[in-house]
This record gives sequence, C-alpha cells and structure tokens, in this order.
Amino acid sequence: MDIQYVFVNEDIKQKLIEDRRDFHQHPELGWMELRTTKKIAERLRELGYEVYLGEEVCDPAFCMGVPEGVTSITGVIGILQGEKSGKKTAIRFDMDALPIQEVQTDINTSYCSKNAGVMHACGHDGHMAVGLGLAEILSQNREYLDGEIRLIFQPAEEGCKGSKSIVAKGWFDDLDEFYSGHIGIGCRELGQIGACMQGFLASTKLNIYFHGKAAHAANAPQEGRNALLAAADFTVKAYDFYRSCSEDVRFNVGRLVSGSGRNIIADEAYLEVETRGTTSESNLYMKEQISKIAETVAGNYGVTYELKTVGDVFTGKSDRSLVDCGYRIACDMGLGEKFLSDATFNASEDVVTMMNRVQEHGGKAAYFMFGTELYAEHHNPYFDYDEEVLSVMTEFYAKLLVKNTN
Ligand SMILES: [Zn+2]
Ligand SMILES: [Zn+2]
Repeated sequence: MDIQYVFVNEDIKQKLIEDRRDFHQHPELGWMELRTTKKIAERLRELGYEVYLGEEVCDPAFCMGVPEGVTSITGVIGILQGEKSGKKTAIRFDMDALPIQEVQTDINTSYCSKNAGVMHACGHDGHMAVGLGLAEILSQNREYLDGEIRLIFQPAEEGCKGSKSIVAKGWFDDLDEFYSGHIGIGCRELGQIGACMQGFLASTKLNIYFHGKAAHAANAPQEGRNALLAAADFTVKAYDFYRSCSEDVRFNVGRLVSGSGRNIIADEAYLEVETRGTTSESNLYMKEQISKIAETVAGNYGVTYELKTVGDVFTGKSDRSLVDCGYRIACDMGLGEKFLSDATFNASEDVVTMMNRVQEHGGKAAYFMFGTELYAEHHNPYFDYDEEVLSVMTEFYAKLLVKNTN
C-alpha cells in the first residue's frame, strides 16, 4: 500500500516510534500520569507552546474516580498561535493506561511495560506519541495555521473520569472545531480511517458498597450481617435483569471484593460495576434498575449499601462537514477507498463529553478511528499494533489543521 506522506518524514516517523515505546514502557493509571505529564509538558515547551498544567487544565471539583490518596492533578494543554488570527481548533489525546499485567512476547521485548500490573493496552501510548509528533509539525508550519491550536492531553479517559473536569474549566466553550480519535477500534486494516458518526454508548461507572456486620461463622453466625452474600445475590439478580431487559443496554460487574477470612461472616463487600446504553435514556434506565436491585438486596440481607458514581458519559455524534473534510484528506493520502464515512464506535468514550460541549456552543466536532492490524484485542495483556498507524494518524491530523487554514 502506498500511503502519501507530506508532513511525516523519516525523522518524525522515528520519533513517533521512540515516543510510543517510551510511553509504553512507563504506563500510568488515570490521575497518576505524573511522568507522562512531565514529559509532554517539557516537549511542548521546547517546541514553543504555551503550556498549562494541573488545576489550569482540570477543575478538581469535577475530577471523577480519583484513587484514594492521590492529590496531584495530571493533564497538559499546549497552545500554539498561528500567525494569522482566526478560529480556535483543538485535538484531544488520552494519557492513561490500564490495570493489566503485560505479557512479554517476541514483538514487545524491547518496550514491554516496566510498571508491574500497569499496561498501555488501549493505544493511548500511541495517541500521545502522535500528539507530540503533531506538535512538532505544527510548530514548523506556524505561518500556515489560522488561529489558535490547542493540543489537549487528557488524564483518566478509561472509565470516563477525566473529561468533565477539563470541560468545567471552559477549554471547549469557544472552539470552532474539535477532533479526536482512536487507534484500532472498529478498523483492522492499516490505512483504513473510519469517521465515527454514531455508536458512542452512554455509560455510568458505579462503585457499590455493602456494609454488614462481622461475626463468628460457627458460634454466632446469626449475629452477623453477610455483605458477601448480599454482593453475590446482587450480582446474580442484576445479570438476570440485564439478560431479560428489552432495552439496548450493556451491564458488567468487573470486580467484587469481600470478606477477610474463612471463619468470619463478611462485613464488607465492594463491587465495580458499569452500565451502558445506545441512548442516554436507556443507560439511565439501566442505572436506575441496578440501583433498585442493590436497595432490595440490601434490605433482604439486613445490610446497608452505598452507590458512588465514579464515571459518566452521554452519547454523541460527529459533524458531517468535518467528516467530509476528513474524507478529502484521506483521498490526498491515497486512502480514499479505505475511508469509512459512517462507522460505528460500539463502546464509550470520555471525549464525547467534550464533543457535546463544543457542539452545544456552536462549534463542530468529529471522531476518527485509525485502522491497524492488532496482535490482540484492546484491554488484553497481549495488546499491540502496527506502529505505522502512528504515521497515518499524525499525517491526517496535520493535514486537517494545516489544510483547514489556507
Ligand atoms: Zn480503553
Ligand atoms: Zn482507549
């Protein structure tokens, strides 16, 4: 396949791979992207960007699902002023990794994760490398940029926890155009570019706690209140409801922790749960039903319960005019035939909160998926991709921004 590159030369290509592998070796979980933040901020400053950090980027009151004990705020925004005054455009790159132990293979020997139990298994390492490659290209082409460009490096995308706090700071209120995208989702062939018109699932992430009472399991079990049993019964009942639900929804209990020992009635249980829906209404319906089940079960077992929302996102869509622009760029790159103008995401993306805000304020937004062969699926310990996709993504974004402005 012959992909036409104008902005991505050998030097940029090399840096994309180096940066991706560096991020990959040093993955950090949501709200803990300290090394990542530092590296990006340093690079952007070197390239002449105005750099914003921490509370300038995220409003702490809206940071969701911050792990206990974490007090620092991560995230970077780099701003470059084009030489002509004009519009305001932003691109979003996500920074966080996942709680997965990466498996070393023949392919990733030189860049396998150095942080035990943490892995870039969603491609955000590549997204950030693209952000830095793009930053360099834009800084070399300032005279062709019309107006302000904001490169937004977002913490805590996984679990839809970070977006709201950046939106709350007003970074999306005055944008004319807003772009973002993802490696490998929906497109499995290098050179494919899919414009994601719909299929962003609304989603709510819940932490559920059952509080019971400990007791001797043989001597006086009747004195206890069994939180483990409540959590197990909740899980079964919630899945029963989900399977019989006529709405187009999703549901998952991904984690259940309970109890302290064999001969003790478990006094605490903790569950990580998510609901999703093809509409914001169906997601809300699912969330309400799940809450009712938790309440009923808690009553049945004489325990109390608590429900905390730690992530939240609605459905969204791309603007056709920006997608059309994306198609013309794909054609320029020799990829017109591989362009999917009506692709479906079929998952949730924290960026939708940003897209919605831009559109509510009269701006336009679009989301693109960049094809690559995958060695394993997203969120899998063997996840990896063809690094050529980094060049495709960088060239595409560079053309959007520089071409947009002539
Ligand atoms: Zn992910
Ligand atoms: Zn992702």
